[in-house]
Amino acid sequence: MGSEALIEEARRSLPSGAGLAGRIYARVFEKGSFEPEAFGMSARSAQAWRKGFGIGLLEVRGLAEEEGELGPTSKAIMECGDGARVECVRIPMHGGKSTLCISSQVGCRMACAFCETGRSGLSRNLLAAEIVAQVHTARFALGWDCGNIVFMGMGEPLDNLDQVSAALRVLTDRRGFSYSWERITVCSSGPPGGIAGLRALGLRRLNLSISLNAGDDATRDALMPVNHSQGLSALASEASDYSQRGNFVLAINYCLIPGVNDGRNQAKGVADFCARVGRTMVNLIPYNPGSHPIARAPSPEELGSFASWLREEGLELRHRAAKGSSIMAACGQLGR
Ligand code: SF4
Repeated sequence: MGSEALIEEARRSLPSGAGLAGRIYARVFEKGSFEPEAFGMSARSAQAWRKGFGIGLLEVRGLAEEEGELGPTSKAIMECGDGARVECVRIPMHGGKSTLCISSQVGCRMACAFCETGRSGLSRNLLAAEIVAQVHTARFALGWDCGNIVFMGMGEPLDNLDQVSAALRVLTDRRGFSYSWERITVCSSGPPGGIAGLRALGLRRLNLSISLNAGDDATRDALMPVNHSQGLSALASEASDYSQRGNFVLAINYCLIPGVNDGRNQAKGVADFCARVGRTMVNLIPYNPGSHPIARAPSPEELGSFASWLREEGLELRHRAAKGSSIMAACGQLGR
């Protein structure tokens, strides 16, 4: 719940103590604990609060860390109330900040060929509460700082848009974590109507990235079955309509898989796609072989060649190091 909804619900359902709803809410996000008693209310009122409301943290069932230049990359396995498990990853960034990569579904039905999560199919959508609880648990149970949030863990966020949108409202609630929208990125494989649905929410400053991974339909069909229902041309058209602010830059994630999508013609196809959608920034990510590899990891030379072809095509790009691959925490490795 956002704070306004909590205040309203407390007024409607509690016999007394509802006037403290805003402060109780703020404390949940400041200290990580739900403590109606801390505000001097009667035992009876506090009991009514506890009967009606709670924060439902997730249980941390596993933790792994990989040391790196910028600090450790950490992966946590978190368990929901029904025993379903999701993973989230804290990724160190330049400047001492971290990005928390969170999950939106238990499993995923998009079945991307390079992704462990895609192998398991979709078990269920996460609730908004479970999405927010990953951040809560990471910050308060694990003590992680999480300056940025990316929806790039398990699941396709636009396949669970109602709950993701509710979670976004809570994450940005001024009485709560108060994330600025610019610090949050939703990453999508591009299911039909998904980006249009996100745009319709009118969240002007929310960042979007697209998991592209191919420069032509045949290659993308083979890697990402979602491409059969929405090919590159239709995806470019939806993406070009997304921009809701003048300085918007669409991030394009490209996982480089040797012998699959690393040819010169693929770089040209990426450039053609980007030319249709407006200003872009390509994140070039090395393929991380998981439990059922479809290829080996690319060499630094292969990454360098592809990057130089993208530059020749006039694209802006960033290299993403394969952080967390030794603990199955890198891109495409969550869920096993
Ligand atoms: S890459 Fe993303 S959309 Fe594709 S199967 Fe994995 S989690 Fe789902």
